[in-house]
Amino acid sequence: MKINREWHLAHPMPRNASLEQRLEWHAEHEVNCGCREMPSAIRKELEARGLIAPTARSLG
Ligand SMILES: [Zn+2]
Repeated sequence: MKINREWHLAHPMPRNASLEQRLEWHAEHEVNCGCREMPSAIRKELEARGLIAPTARSLG
C-alpha cells in the first residue's frame, strides 16, 4: 500500500509525543495508511493492551 497523504496531513505526529500518543497514532496509521511498518515496540505494546490483534509476523 502506498502513502495516504491526506491522512498524514490531517494527523501529524505531535512534537514530543508521549507513548500514549504514539500508540494511538500508529494504531490509526496502520488502518489508514501503509507507507511504513509499525515499529515492533509499538506493535507489541498495542497487542499487550489488546488494541490490535497479533499478526503472524509479530508472533513469529
Ligand atoms: Zn503513512
